[in-house]
Amino acid sequence: MNKPRLFLSPPHISGEEQQLVQEAFASNYIAPVGPMVDAFEQEFTEYTGLSHAVAVASGTAALHLALRHLGVGAGDEVFLSTLTFIGSATPAVYQGATPVFIDSDRQTWNMDPDLLAEELAGCKRRGRRPKAVVPTDLYGQSCDLDRILAVCAPYGVPAVTDSAEALGARYKGRHAGKGARAAVFSFNGNKIITTSGGGMLASDDRELVENARFLSQQARDPAPHYEHSEIGYNYRMSNILAAIGRGQLRVLDERVEQKRRIFAFYREALGDLPGIAFMPEAPYGVCTRWLTVILITPEAFGADREAVRLALEAENIESRPLWKPMHLQPVFRGCRTVGGGVSESLFQAGLCLPSGTAMTGADLARVVEVIRNVHSRV
Ligand SMILES: *Cc1c(COP(=O)(O)O)cnc(C)c1O
Repeated sequence: MNKPRLFLSPPHISGEEQQLVQEAFASNYIAPVGPMVDAFEQEFTEYTGLSHAVAVASGTAALHLALRHLGVGAGDEVFLSTLTFIGSATPAVYQGATPVFIDSDRQTWNMDPDLLAEELAGCKRRGRRPKAVVPTDLYGQSCDLDRILAVCAPYGVPAVTDSAEALGARYKGRHAGKGARAAVFSFNGNKIITTSGGGMLASDDRELVENARFLSQQARDPAPHYEHSEIGYNYRMSNILAAIGRGQLRVLDERVEQKRRIFAFYREALGDLPGIAFMPEAPYGVCTRWLTVILITPEAFGADREAVRLALEAENIESRPLWKPMHLQPVFRGCRTVGGGVSESLFQAGLCLPSGTAMTGADLARVVEVIRNVHSRV
């Protein structure tokens, strides 16, 4: 195996990170918070247009803080997209709440607002109301947020977007997550920009963000000694990682362009094959194409998704099935699910292709050649 491995979405530095990390070292702010964290949060709010932001250890931590602020607790239900990563669902469980999974629609692959409306109406008939709705912005594409907010409004249910995969995405001209009660972002190593690990909770609600900031640092009351009247978390982002984030944020728009070019390349090079379809881009926004995702119809293509994945793996190319829907996960067996057929069929047929922004034309051609060969072999 001497060809270099192609990864799904590896980190891609801008070149400015080391200088910023060096500055953090020079200032001796190695310790948790410091000027880099403040600057990262400030620059993040400027980029996204979300007014307030708190930098934390992960996207999962950011969502946990949001749900905690909204009072999610034991006995509550939280509505979630079923087609998502587990980090979208665990915070509700950490709070003792019960997840309810909502299926995707075929046009956006995100939470189906009609199913959400049905389920909210059903809950009302039973005299219940979920504590929060958490729609995921999947693979760099915003959910139909205005419709989701309109569906939630009459019930007074807040929506927090899991925008972990959608930094840089637009919805009706604004940044993904803008307009929700809060939005959660991730800087995990495979995301469009990374701090090696980290997250951001952003919102136009200052009180929500300030309370999350308080909780993220062990809920220390204002006092010269350590005084606590609430239980918090140790979730804050370190100053060193924030320095990396600042360097990454500077090239985010460039990364979005590169991701979209990669998608365009794949579509051009594979779009003529029978049985290959691409994740649709919803007309209401701009998808970052964080990952290029294809659907393979075995009857037409001549091989199934798994055969393609194995052929790529044999050439040292990483690809991956879509997120396995949460309602199919053993840990969530028995959880209520609204619909489910759409996400199941997407999971069955879907494959995420290498989408690293540092990929060369030759790298992309390697991927395309393997997939075309699988088709011509049959
Ligand atoms: C990456 C991701 C998360 C979690 O982010 P971490 O920073 O890894 O905790 C949550 N939801 C989705 C949809 C993600 O892709």
